[in-house]
Amino acid sequence: MKKLHFITLLLTLTLVLSACGTSDEGKDGNAGGEGEKVYKVGVDTTYPPFEFKKDGEYKGIDIELINAIAENQGFEIELSSMDFGGIIPAMQAGELDIAIAGMSITDKRKKVVDFSDPYFEAGLSLVVKGGNTDIKTINDLKGKTVAVKKGTTGATFAQENAKEKGFEVVQFNDSPAMFQEVANGNADALIEDYPVIAYAIAQKELGLEIVGDRLNGDQYGIAVLKGENQDLLEKINKGLKELKENGKYDEILKTYLGE
Ligand code: GLN
Repeated sequence: MKKLHFITLLLTLTLVLSACGTSDEGKDGNAGGEGEKVYKVGVDTTYPPFEFKKDGEYKGIDIELINAIAENQGFEIELSSMDFGGIIPAMQAGELDIAIAGMSITDKRKKVVDFSDPYFEAGLSLVVKGGNTDIKTINDLKGKTVAVKKGTTGATFAQENAKEKGFEVVQFNDSPAMFQEVANGNADALIEDYPVIAYAIAQKELGLEIVGDRLNGDQYGIAVLKGENQDLLEKINKGLKELKENGKYDEILKTYLGE
């Protein structure tokens, strides 16, 4: 009995010590050394210009940004694509270390994740089928159906306003499915982040139109699991700051958004 306790204690100690060892190596900046931790990064590849796949390759502002931060700070990452609504749960289950997914910094999310300094100004827009003249603001949604994407700030905004404004909310797993629903007339409107819908409309004939001003303003941040990854968060913030200072951040934005 006693012996077993001792072995358990020894094992625990070994584990604790080796865990410390890994993070110390990180601090020394031994980038790419053998046995170096590879941080798993959750992304939402239905979200151009922030994240998408082209010819099987990851592209977009978020992808280039996290790669540049990792390179600048000397850590390794591995990308993992999933529906936006699955990202925070995957983090909580220990399957992801980092999330960069056009994710808005919100007080609700701050209860479960720690956010980096903001890296992009966004905010929500109301969107209708091209040529729809009935809906000019969210006050014109009585009896209408509004499409949103699961787990997003757009979904929360819709749910908070549905009762008062008298509309119904339908949820989708990804942005293209939600766009399609309004384009083909199954839903009357949708709520999406302004930079994403503006980019999508500029890129191709979606048959959609943004109405009015942005519904709110928010900022994107990079998330790590709350209280678990302070070293990593510090590196992310440091990397972000350096990329802003050395022009790389502007260069990445320019690649996708133009001047
Ligand atoms: N910015 C929105 C949010 O944080 C949408 C993000 C997304 O759909 N990838 O909820």
